[in-house]
Amino acid sequence: MYEKIKEQFASDNYSQICPEVLDKIVSLNGDNAQAYGDDYYTKYAADKLRELFECDCEVFFVFNGTAANSLSLASLCNSYHSIICTEVAHIETDECGAPEFFSNGSKLLLAKGKNGKLRPCDIEELANKRSDIHYPKPKVVSLTQATELGTVYTIEELKAIKKVAVKNNLHIHMDGARFSNALVSLNVSPAELTWKVGIDVLCFSGTKNGLALGEVVIFFNKKLCKDFDYRCKQAGQLASKMKFISVQWIALLENNLWKKNASHANRMAKYFEQEVKQMKNIKIKCKVQANSVFIQTDEQLLDELKSKNWIFYSFIGAGGARFVFSWNSSKERIDELLKDIKRIFT
Ligand SMILES: *Cc1c(COP(=O)(O)O)cnc(C)c1O
Repeated sequence: MYEKIKEQFASDNYSQICPEVLDKIVSLNGDNAQAYGDDYYTKYAADKLRELFECDCEVFFVFNGTAANSLSLASLCNSYHSIICTEVAHIETDECGAPEFFSNGSKLLLAKGKNGKLRPCDIEELANKRSDIHYPKPKVVSLTQATELGTVYTIEELKAIKKVAVKNNLHIHMDGARFSNALVSLNVSPAELTWKVGIDVLCFSGTKNGLALGEVVIFFNKKLCKDFDYRCKQAGQLASKMKFISVQWIALLENNLWKKNASHANRMAKYFEQEVKQMKNIKIKCKVQANSVFIQTDEQLLDELKSKNWIFYSFIGAGGARFVFSWNSSKERIDELLKDIKRIFT
């Protein structure tokens, strides 16, 4: 017999579909709207996104984040170009080479960065490391907002990055798997955090904010999305039932549901951090600025926690563990986790 899995904090993609989103999917079942995105819902969702970002951007719906990142990067590069990112970037560590594959060979240039963030000096260094014909030409800076380590780029940091990017002729791509969490954390508008600081393209995740699936690729710099619809189709990312992706986005955009979901996730991360940081065997690895908490502790203790049926990632090196909170993370379940942690760790 299959036993259902209790709520976990391994990632925000472990979470369920948000009820408002599910209701939209169900209500769409009464409408035989057109296929391949030629429907009312897809157009309306794209318009709602343009409204949210306060600009006339180009919007494309795809299935997942790997596709959103790699197809948008491919659109910004030629095969002989390169992409500057941190060594912990999802495009480097978790996409099975898809950015290189879809761009026909654009190389990722890795910076150590700091707290998951690229600094202007990293970009300057990698962009100017070589200028000869034998080295792939730097073309794009890829930032993750919020970062893979749960930190957030401030507006000031983004402005400084834009300055170096302009100087070195680089486009800026933003992996927004947790963009909503970053927005809420900084309390700024989507426009302020993107095109107003010179972001060219954003991959905006719905999956990690309460959808069943579905991400959007938003081109603020419309010159960079030439034939992007063909690129999506060729890559197997043109959903014939796109309406079921876009209708979910309508739910997320109505009544600022995205904001409510992200705020809850961030709040729960803070709560967990406050509790955990009082324990003497545990160190918080990075500032908690979004919805993930990274801890450093004894590896044996983490194994013990795993044996209590807690699922979490410990890819961060020996004794490191990550806990991620979602739109629906319950305080009761976090308290259960804290209770087990306290029992094992003190
Ligand atoms: C989750 C995530 C993605 C998207 O991953 P998919 O599994 O391809 O949907 C992209 N970037 C970051 C930083 C992520 O955490």
